[in-house]
Amino acid sequence: MAKADYYELLGVAKTATEEELKKAYRKKAVQYHPDKNPGNKEAEEMFKKISEAYEALKDPDKRAAYDRYGHAAFQGPGAGARSAAGGFHDPYDIFREVFGQGGGGGGIFDEMFGGGSRDGGRDGSDLRYDLEITLEEAARGIEKEISFRKLMACEHCHASGAEPGSKRITCPTCRGAGQVRRSGGIIVFTQTCPTCGGSGVKIEKPCSVCHGEGRTAKNTKLNVKIPPGVDSGSRLRSAGNGEAAAAGGNPGDLYIVISVKEHELFERQGDDLFCEIPIKFTLATLGGTIEVPTLTGKATLKIPHATQSGTTFRLRERGMPTLRGGRHGDQLIRVHVEVPSSLTAEQRRILEEFAKVSGDAQEPTSRSFFEKAKKFF
Ligand SMILES: [Zn+2]
Ligand SMILES: [Zn+2]
Repeated sequence: MAKADYYELLGVAKTATEEELKKAYRKKAVQYHPDKNPGNKEAEEMFKKISEAYEALKDPDKRAAYDRYGHAAFQGPGAGARSAAGGFHDPYDIFREVFGQGGGGGGIFDEMFGGGSRDGGRDGSDLRYDLEITLEEAARGIEKEISFRKLMACEHCHASGAEPGSKRITCPTCRGAGQVRRSGGIIVFTQTCPTCGGSGVKIEKPCSVCHGEGRTAKNTKLNVKIPPGVDSGSRLRSAGNGEAAAAGGNPGDLYIVISVKEHELFERQGDDLFCEIPIKFTLATLGGTIEVPTLTGKATLKIPHATQSGTTFRLRERGMPTLRGGRHGDQLIRVHVEVPSSLTAEQRRILEEFAKVSGDAQEPTSRSFFEKAKKFF
């Protein structure tokens, strides 16, 4: 039986972002988790399938392999692809990775239904940096130093949020539980403690620099490596280089979003480069060779005799490198035949002679055009 498509299993588009994938997985994992469906074999199977799908798609390398080869990327004789992709883990590992360990005896469902905000609140935010590069830089890859401002761990309090020398005390509101009970009529529900934000501790004297947040906004610099083959819209993830977390969580990630400047000569079409080059009508008629620019220097292009204006030639492997490496696109050159705008007396005499010898020079010469035009006369 054919294996279901990973994207379809998770109910996302092929273009889904990492965040969308995670969200989709969270939703389905909760729906099909065996703890929620005791004794239901179908749900368990489904849970395993979506966990496998998410494990494959959350990793950019595995996802690329899957996009290219489908399920064959992870099985069968393609040993190369297989070792690159690696085997699959226990579906419960993936689940724990996404939902956290569920510490404190609350169990995984508390983590899940506790609102994700606990998780989200602890971790630093992801950042986006828009980087504009030239086509040449996109072709060969480049290392760039970028500078930006972000929330970083406060040095004064070593990210603790407490003024050096002051103590951290048990939160008086929740008495260290991190949650408070609220009564809404006959229903009693628990809520993250508003005083300590769920940490259970309160700072006696907040840090004078960061006011207890444990982080401050600072300018920072980072060297980023842009691989050859990126295009406008390419998104590179720099793990852990986003904003610092408020207290004890993980830093966010930095996403570098590429835009490639327009080039004077070349227009990019996927991995191919397109350009238009004017040639003299004598060269187009008689044939010959010309030197043409490429992104990596000059190349020689042979123009056969009787080349018509608009003919496109292909220089193999002179286009952009593919992002995954291994090959290059082509360079496409469309020639455009130029008619001289002025003639010397001698040139005119020779061309008139040429027209006379050719006899039918005043008529359109293409037979098919002539056939079509006949019915208008
Ligand atoms: Zn509290
Ligand atoms: Zn501080």
